Amino acid sequence: MRKIHVVEDEQGVRELLMRYLEHEGYRVFPHASGEGVLEAIVQQGADLIVLDIMLPGIDGLELCRRIRAKHQTPIIFVSARSEEFDRILGIELGGDDYLVKPFSPRELLARIKAIFRRIEQPGAEPGTTQHLDLTLDLAARVARVGAVTMELTNKEFELLKYLIENKGRAFTREQLLTAVWGYSYVGDSRSVDDLVRRIRKKLDGVSAVEVTTVWGYGYRVNA
Ligand code: CA
Repeated sequence: MRKIHVVEDEQGVRELLMRYLEHEGYRVFPHASGEGVLEAIVQQGADLIVLDIMLPGIDGLELCRRIRAKHQTPIIFVSARSEEFDRILGIELGGDDYLVKPFSPRELLARIKAIFRRIEQPGAEPGTTQHLDLTLDLAARVARVGAVTMELTNKEFELLKYLIENKGRAFTREQLLTAVWGYSYVGDSRSVDDLVRRIRKKLDGVSAVEVTTVWGYGYRVNA
């Protein structure tokens, strides 16, 4: 049974999500604050974390940072704040998705399923993908050039992997959003620019692999 930790200080929301997700067959661990979440993840195990941003004590962004220091567990941020800043920061810190409150449990479930689907995708078994001097280690989820290891966030890794697996082909930002996030983020194609910018920064001076801008269209990694 998949284990989902729900970190949410609003009791009503927490209980609603808990009932809903349990009904869908998940084992749910509720947390009213960020306290003890790290320990609980280690002790109980976690397949996914639903993380509120505004929390008493340590907030969701800080908790995400701490979780990411040790774990690659998928994280879906939920927040009452719709600011672009939070979304970008959340994704930058390694969040996998972002939902603005109020949202329906059904919508959250769809996002959760999309993440689990991507993890279970046939052909996505650990191994390596190579291009020029770059090796993507699918098990460790890091990029390597010789002895140099580049730490990538989950989304950076997914985007680079997708472009390399489809090298020589140009994609629009919308196509990349769908490929990497698993559904369409209407009007949020800047997330892709942001990811590409960070990937380029990491590749720059380290690898011969380049993410090329296709003007008026999107991006491509040359074959
Ligand atoms: Ca809250």
